[in-house]
Amino acid sequence: MSDCLFCRIVSRQIPSQIVFEDDLALVFQDLNPQAPTHVLIIPKKHIPSLADAAEEDAALLGHLQRVAGRFAREHSLEKGFRVVTNSGRGAGQSVDHLHYHLLGGRAMTWPPG
Ligand code: AMP
Ligand code: ZN
Repeated sequence: MSDCLFCRIVSRQIPSQIVFEDDLALVFQDLNPQAPTHVLIIPKKHIPSLADAAEEDAALLGHLQRVAGRFAREHSLEKGFRVVTNSGRGAGQSVDHLHYHLLGGRAMTWPPG
């Protein structure tokens, strides 16, 4: 989608600090990090939010979680990390392209705000 910020990051129309890429997924540094490690894991396919994911996206969603797990292993987050997606404005979603925040490198509190 040409007017979607994260689609434009996928197509390199907008620069970002990409840390991993494969056929299906992109991982890049969050512009406004909330932890020492804060990356965004997104599908290259435009899916507005988790609420919009279809049955046909099941394997893609699984792949994104495996990307998250591998990233954590490879970046020494053995003390713990958090993967979260905000779905809808009420949950704080500000970019309408599915993305998982992966946060680590500090203690996490629960419940999240
Ligand atoms: P959310 O509020 O859950 O939709 O998360 C959107 C995230 O995207 C926020 O953490 C922003 O800091 C981040 N963000 C917005 N624009 C950019 C950008 N151009 N590059 C990297 N991260 C961005
Ligand atoms: Zn998009």
